[in-house]
Amino acid sequence: MLARVRSIPISKPIAALAAALTLLALPAAAPASERSTARYLQTIRDDPAALRDFLWAMPKGADLHNHLSGSVYAESMVRWGAEDGVCVSTTTWVARPGPCAEGERPLADALSDGTLYDAVLRAWSMKGFRDGEVSGHDHFFATFGRFGGANTRRAGDMLAEVTRRAAAQNEQYLETMLTPASSAVWALAEQAGWAGDLEAQHRRLLDAGLRGLVAQGRAQLDAMIARQRELLACDTPAADRACSLPVRFQAQVSRGAPPNVVFAQMALGFELMAADGRWVAVNLVQPEDGPVALRDYRLHMRMLRFLRERYDAGHLTLHAGELVPGLAPPADLRFHVREAVEVAGAERIGHGVDVLYERDPAGLLRTMARRGILVETALISNRQILGVRGRRHPIRRYVRAGVPVALATDDEGVSRTDLTAQFEQAVTEHGFGYRALKRFARDSLRHAFLPDAEKAAALRAQRAAFERFERRF
Ligand SMILES: [Zn+2]
Repeated sequence: MLARVRSIPISKPIAALAAALTLLALPAAAPASERSTARYLQTIRDDPAALRDFLWAMPKGADLHNHLSGSVYAESMVRWGAEDGVCVSTTTWVARPGPCAEGERPLADALSDGTLYDAVLRAWSMKGFRDGEVSGHDHFFATFGRFGGANTRRAGDMLAEVTRRAAAQNEQYLETMLTPASSAVWALAEQAGWAGDLEAQHRRLLDAGLRGLVAQGRAQLDAMIARQRELLACDTPAADRACSLPVRFQAQVSRGAPPNVVFAQMALGFELMAADGRWVAVNLVQPEDGPVALRDYRLHMRMLRFLRERYDAGHLTLHAGELVPGLAPPADLRFHVREAVEVAGAERIGHGVDVLYERDPAGLLRTMARRGILVETALISNRQILGVRGRRHPIRRYVRAGVPVALATDDEGVSRTDLTAQFEQAVTEHGFGYRALKRFARDSLRHAFLPDAEKAAALRAQRAAFERFERRF
């Protein structure tokens, strides 16, 4: 599908080369340690093991785009499911609480049956995936509906795994996404119905007890963090370094749900942010090319604008432009990023892969650069879900336009990757040099949704980490 897309107005080879040279160039003013580190990276860029070592140790800033359940490796979920008596269907690979019905096997069996184990890992992640009858996009999104039953009681375990991996790779901050008070907010939305008018709908939700769910969202985080700290031995001398990793949470909204549910989830997100500083942003999840997501895209942007005008606290980052030609009709590739920025008022954009197909892409890039709207770029997820790689990816175009970029994992468990691998790909596939990587790492923290004092502290810690890192080279 992508191979037939010929005329992306990105890079004429010479322009691309010039841009690559600009990114590699080091001004004389750069400190000697930074210059020698950059030179070292140049010598190992074709040596995968040395590159991996270098990038693993490099301070990488924040992972700003991380879905908690998608960030857990399937191996962990098999283990938890086995301990919790979960069953798995051997035809659909959907996990469900036991006792097992016909056509299901206990997940515990997978721990001693290598064939079953491997089949579950492949059904629950991109392990060994090859495009065939099922596309990467469809397989990727289908995994969530399969493994969900194996992690329902394991939110704290998930957070422990994800923060442990982040801290081990020298990340300075994590924002992870989860759905607050999921079934209660659906029930509330159904009770409220749909007024057809946002003001009236908001009133209905408040009257139906929306604020009562804030306590649930708070309790959800309390329980999850308590379990994470227990698993990381945070209150003991053997505390994992992840115990000191700052973490904040984004409230997920299911963009494929009916308008009453979408609006209730958004409104709950804003209520949570007003009441509890650990919730810092609202985000829209699920496939952007789904029928309801496409039909209601503009409505969703108006809903977010409405809520932003009514609540003082909180931030907005939106999955927008996670599309390519062929995945959605051309008309739907023309406005998603722009409306996320101009109507909803998003402060960051997730993916933005189709930006060059928008109306007036150059103008849109200028607006994003001027307003400092960062793009959370998940190179490996974009390759797996959208089939976009190399020169077809707009990352260099964003950089050239002065739009801040941060590398992010998206769903590192499903993708079977990590943040280091995103940096590797930025080097090997996009030709970025050390200063560009450092810029991504710094921009990820500058655009973190942390209060000013905490952000300043994180940036100071990162500066010190870079100094220690560069002393080695
Ligand atoms: Zn995402």
